[in-house]
Amino acid sequence: MFGMKKNRSVFISGGGPAGLAAALLFDQLGWDEVVLAERRASPSDFEKNKSFNYLVDKRGQRLFDRIGLLDRLPDNGVATQEFVATTITPDGKAKTEKVPIIDPNRPVAYWTTRRALLGMLFEGVEQKTSARTKVLYGHSVDTIQRDGCGKVEITISDQSGAVKAFSPDLVLACDGLNSVIRSSLSAQPDVPDGYFDMIEGDSISAGLRYKVLNLPARFETANGEVKLHDNGMSYIIPSIHKDQGKACTLFAFPVVDPSHPRSVNLIRETDHTLWQIRDTEELYEFLEESFPQLNIRELVPEEEAKDFVTLEAGAFPQPQYAKNLHTSIGPEHSPTEFVLIGDAAHAFPPDLGLGVNSALEDLDVLARHFEAHDDIGDAARSYAKERWPEARDLAWVVEKFFPEQYNHRPWKLKIWALGFIVRKLLNNVAPSLFDKPAFFLSQDPDMSFGEMKKRKLRTDFRVRALGIGIVAMLAGLVVAT
Ligand SMILES: Cc1cc2nc3c(=O)[nH]c(=O)nc-3n(C[C@H](O)[C@H](O)[C@H](O)COP(=O)(O)OP(=O)(O)OC[C@H]3O[C@@H](n4cnc5c(N)ncnc54)[C@H](O)[C@@H]3O)c2cc1C
Repeated sequence: MFGMKKNRSVFISGGGPAGLAAALLFDQLGWDEVVLAERRASPSDFEKNKSFNYLVDKRGQRLFDRIGLLDRLPDNGVATQEFVATTITPDGKAKTEKVPIIDPNRPVAYWTTRRALLGMLFEGVEQKTSARTKVLYGHSVDTIQRDGCGKVEITISDQSGAVKAFSPDLVLACDGLNSVIRSSLSAQPDVPDGYFDMIEGDSISAGLRYKVLNLPARFETANGEVKLHDNGMSYIIPSIHKDQGKACTLFAFPVVDPSHPRSVNLIRETDHTLWQIRDTEELYEFLEESFPQLNIRELVPEEEAKDFVTLEAGAFPQPQYAKNLHTSIGPEHSPTEFVLIGDAAHAFPPDLGLGVNSALEDLDVLARHFEAHDDIGDAARSYAKERWPEARDLAWVVEKFFPEQYNHRPWKLKIWALGFIVRKLLNNVAPSLFDKPAFFLSQDPDMSFGEMKKRKLRTDFRVRALGIGIVAMLAGLVVAT
């Protein structure tokens, strides 16, 4: 094709969901060299404190369709539309009901685990890419440097310390929130100060700590009355405590494989008792006291308890986005284009389940721009122009829509629930004036984040105006009588 550079090469930093999907994508786009470096030792080397459950919605599915993996999702995830959950209270009683804050009309999405998602993507890379694509596990991306002519080199090192260098045309930073590519770019003399700074919002869910506990695939309550045997069901297990320093809830989301353990995230504030626990006996005592509905010592083997105690608790980041998503550095005749993707570009607490989906959507948008432009720089620039406002609005949406859901500030959750009910009623009565509650909007995978923000602000304004109008009317009536 006229104008297209011969021998196009891309270097991908990080082999998380975004990086592995990017390797498949650029192989399919016909690039001549695709190299991915991932610091984990092997595809099966899994970080236990990242045993997350993901709900892959249509944003993510569009990319899977593009890279030819959509038909594998049903084997790696549980299809879901409405959200039905069984709650097992401390007295051992169970109640199954639809969760009303989930839009029953949303398109089908798939519950999967990070492990299953990464496994599916790696299998895809192995089976579907050509010899032009290389995935290097056990290799850390170290830095960006320049050769004698100013050409950009990405250096990586393996576990023995052996160093390799690459000089690609395009670098994709898919290396997560603490992206080495982003921080190394910031140190380049031809990148303006602060160009890749992260702009942080302020969410009440940021700073919450989390750890993961693996429960058996199938188990029953201590009284034997309820069997938790349905791998397609979500189970909610609240603790007996009301005191915020001790209260917690176990959420077990659907898993496709009935023999696969249920990983539950424990998410609480920094001063919660859980984070002070230092040994397994203390953990057993705390869990037994908290969850009388479960036979804790049977469900949590010693090894699992030890892992839980020794693992460092993670912390939710503030919603944030990078000041820029693209730059071009190096000699004018052979520059290297850099593009930020996924958590390297925008990161936030998992309130709306948009982390993986937005990372995959970044790649879908990127692919469109590479299909539309022969010039690598033009494609990267136009990608960043389209996607940056979305990264900004995505961080805003996560900050504002539902950070109260962890019930760590119960009165705030009550106010949120009241606002949700009021907006739902108003939307039923006058849909052209009042939009759906914002949390419903966030479940629409066809709506841009900018549109969600616009609609929330518009409806908030109208709800406030209505409230003021009603108060003024009542005051007028009181004065008149
Ligand atoms: C507790 C929690 C729960 C979450 N739940 C959800 C959810 O329900 N739904 C959802 O959509 N999202 C969720 N997320 C967010 C989601 O995990 C991220 O948005 C998603 O993983 C981003 O993918 P990524 O590929 O951009 O980055 P990452 O998944 O962070 O992957 C980055 C990869 O780069 C590698 N890497 C990093 N630095 C280097 C280096 N120097 N050299 C080589 N390799 C490197 C890492 O090892 C990793 O494999 C959750 C996050 C948290 C913390």
